Amino acid sequence: MSELVDEVRAWLAWAQDSGLKNLAGAERRPEPANRPAEAEPKVKLEVLESVRKELGDCTRCKLHRTRTNIVFGVGDPEARLMFVGEGPGEDEDLKGYPFVGKAGQLLTKMIEAMGLRREDVYICNTVKCRPPNNRNPEPDELAACEPFLKGQLAAVKPEVIVTLGKFAAQSLLREQTPITRLRGQWREYQGIPLMPTFHPAYLLRSPQEKGKVWEDLKQVMKRLDLPLAKGGAS
Ligand code: URA
Repeated sequence: MSELVDEVRAWLAWAQDSGLKNLAGAERRPEPANRPAEAEPKVKLEVLESVRKELGDCTRCKLHRTRTNIVFGVGDPEARLMFVGEGPGEDEDLKGYPFVGKAGQLLTKMIEAMGLRREDVYICNTVKCRPPNNRNPEPDELAACEPFLKGQLAAVKPEVIVTLGKFAAQSLLREQTPITRLRGQWREYQGIPLMPTFHPAYLLRSPQEKGKVWEDLKQVMKRLDLPLAKGGAS
């Protein structure tokens, strides 16, 4: 609990230092340390809501001009496991939720193969608006959105982060190592174990690589003490 409170304070302080506004509501909350233990999920939800509120109807980068909806994130604010993808595609842009297209269906199968449901985890992206024609996010777009991804991570504070594809891994780890070398190797983001793996969209194009992703997910299951009885996602 106190670690969460520290993390939330750190995010709020960081956000204010960065000139982010609209945090007064979050700041005025009663001291979380004085609340009963069961209040923690509410704190996480409130911080997530304050990050969403700060994002607002964002125009910080050029992606706002072509988006239909901001795709913030979805799932359990108390999740032990957080998946971070690249950026919304067409289906996500239209619906406003991450990973709801074909790649998302495969991600759901991967989550279920781990013995979890989508509602048990938290899912978001490195950039919250669709890059036109599904091009790669550009450095200024990644930089503009990064505070909000960091805010989501500080709010949920998962036990494990799984990054999907090269952009999420490279952004959080601040390095350019190719995803083929990063995947399957435990790393850390601010003390949280981070497992980089391939993006499900890549697996749709290269299904022969699914076995490697399953190996990565099994490492995550082991770290989270999840039973390893199930098979892989097909
Ligand atoms: N690909 C991503 O990286 N994120 C989504 O939300 C959908 C597809």
